[in-house]
Amino acid sequence: MPLSACYNATKFKLYLFCFRSLTVAKNKHPLRINIGFLLNQPVGTSRDFDFEFNQLILPPDIELTDFSGTAHISRTRQGLLVEGVFTGTVEAECVRCLRSTEQHLKTQFQELYAFTRDNVSESDLVLPEDGHIDLGPIVGEYLVIEIPIKPLCREDCRGLCMVCGANLNEQTCEHVAQIQEE
Ligand SMILES: [Zn+2]
Ligand SMILES: [Zn+2]
Repeated sequence: MPLSACYNATKFKLYLFCFRSLTVAKNKHPLRINIGFLLNQPVGTSRDFDFEFNQLILPPDIELTDFSGTAHISRTRQGLLVEGVFTGTVEAECVRCLRSTEQHLKTQFQELYAFTRDNVSESDLVLPEDGHIDLGPIVGEYLVIEIPIKPLCREDCRGLCMVCGANLNEQTCEHVAQIQEE
């Protein structure tokens, strides 16, 4: 291959790499947003914040791919109301066959970030004075509870043979017939 072609190919790869990495969250607080401008607006003013990342890690320590969502934030008398809808995918181990499997998560929530301690909600969120809120911890918490306690690669996963460990989704073994006979 001529040197120039090689150079171009490398450049192209680099370009692809840069392009892809754009949506990989490197920032420590990828869901931190500036909401200062909403504070002086009349009650009822709202704004949508959209997020999209190929890869993202959220607190407590949840590794997501294909993450996206929107936070609809409205100014209310008591504070800022966040109405969020977020989706993402996590890797989990199927409890029956132990294969790694993708679990698609979706969450929808409402949280109030109160102006003062006097009207905090159950979640105890108060607007920070710097005019920014980090949605990361909240979104992470809501997504974590969506992870199934017993993930399955598919509803009818047949699991592993208790005797020889064969993956019964892919093969049968002599033991299955025996167990059924017993
Ligand atoms: Zn399985
Ligand atoms: Zn077997």
